[in-house]
Amino acid sequence: MSGDGPSLVWFRDDLRLADNPALTAALERGKPIVAVYVLDEESPGVRPLGGAARWWLHGSLTALADSLHRLGGRLTLRRGPAEDMILELAASVGADAVFWNRRYGAAEREVDTRIKSGLTAGGTETRSFSGSLLFEPWTIQTGQGGSYSVFTPFWRACTAGPPPRAPHPAPDSIPGFAGEIPSDPLDDWALLPTRPDWAAGLREAWQPGEASAGRLLETFLRESLDRYADERDEPAQAVTSRLSPHLRWGEISPFQIWNATERTRIGLTGRAQNSATRFLTEVGWREFSYHVLFNNPTLATVNLRPEFDAFPWPRLDERALAAWQQGRTGIALVDAGMRELWRTGSMHNRVRMVTASFLIKNLLIDWRLGEQWFWDTLVDADAASNPFGWQWVAGSGADAAPYFRVFNPELQAKKFDPHGEYIRQNVPEWGTDAYPAPIVDLGETRRAALGAYEQIKGMK
Ligand code: FAD
Repeated sequence: MSGDGPSLVWFRDDLRLADNPALTAALERGKPIVAVYVLDEESPGVRPLGGAARWWLHGSLTALADSLHRLGGRLTLRRGPAEDMILELAASVGADAVFWNRRYGAAEREVDTRIKSGLTAGGTETRSFSGSLLFEPWTIQTGQGGSYSVFTPFWRACTAGPPPRAPHPAPDSIPGFAGEIPSDPLDDWALLPTRPDWAAGLREAWQPGEASAGRLLETFLRESLDRYADERDEPAQAVTSRLSPHLRWGEISPFQIWNATERTRIGLTGRAQNSATRFLTEVGWREFSYHVLFNNPTLATVNLRPEFDAFPWPRLDERALAAWQQGRTGIALVDAGMRELWRTGSMHNRVRMVTASFLIKNLLIDWRLGEQWFWDTLVDADAASNPFGWQWVAGSGADAAPYFRVFNPELQAKKFDPHGEYIRQNVPEWGTDAYPAPIVDLGETRRAALGAYEQIKGMK
């Protein structure tokens, strides 16, 4: 690569220094580094972040800026359409090369393609890398050359090839750019809630940033991996990794997780070894969600199974929707999950399935409204996993639970929270007069949902 100009590294969903292939390549070029993050709320089709995600982003950018600073670098912040911001910044610092790790949404890819042509036309080299997924979605193909819509053969195809590469080490210094670069003060972006400040529970539950992601992974592998397969479905056990928001923002890469898990597996035997496989398979579901998003860019809004377009959703019951959102449905496990979500910005996977099923199949409310609520309230709100999860529960998605599988929240509670520990943590008034009566009859609404499904069954 020719020229003496700096290398621009555009951070996006990869807010880390270790195992960051774009940063590694820029450092190998040996010129000063200009690191930038762009808050793009304007490019057509790019989904605006939800409230909890904005809160996370503030913490994550603060952590990234500190890490860069410690090594001699600096993080430049810009807000606006990414195309304008990157082209302008590259020109103003005289960058000879621009590096980034890939994104997989259609709108984001279009933005990246336009930027690449703009830069190339101006003589600036651009290079993109695989940093967020173990398997690039287009590289995994069926025997006929198509994409997968069922998880098991997808994951078999992924794991049949060479194992994921080893992670790149973290840099020990960043050659800074000597010139002045204007940068927005992070506080000007107003990512944190103020009036009211609803983020106290999030602050208590989470510490955004690469360092805390690494600590979580270490603790999980040391203390919980061996029990994961047996206890991952029990929300009171806190046995899962809690890495999802860190993965969402790329504070840790799946390559780091894969390799560290494989190293830990060596010291395990019997069931505990299977536990490691089970954990990596869950990471595989994240890969599958992205494979499905890449091949179906409208995943968040359009049923993957077209027969669901004719689903006879009744007129929206706003009060029922509000009761669900606020955790006041009178169904204890559902309320526990929805309150956990509001307080901490997260919810255990088993309970995500139960609360989603209740919204769709007991309240007969369109899955898209649930997906939007999760998008706004989850710190791990993910453009692939969130709509994928909702369509899975709705039965309209890829490799989805059949529609007629209606989770019974009371049986689910008996099975996965047998002592009511999780429920009591989140719904302290459960079992007292202060707790509301159920807003619907589970049996009746289940029958109504199955009746509605009968109307679309067999339609294509
Ligand atoms: P672990 O059990 O420790 O799993 C490790 C990692 O594997 C997770 O961090 C996650 O990246 C991935 N993973 C695990 N389960 C799944 C899954 N079912 N689908 C995709 N990836 C998975 N996950 C998100 O990251 N963002 C979302 O917005 C999101 N929305 C969801 C909505 C619904 C309706 C449902 C049913 C699931 C959703 N999930 C989502 C998947 C899953 O619930 C979370 O990834 C998981 O609860 C995160 O906890 P953990 O990090 O402790 O997971």
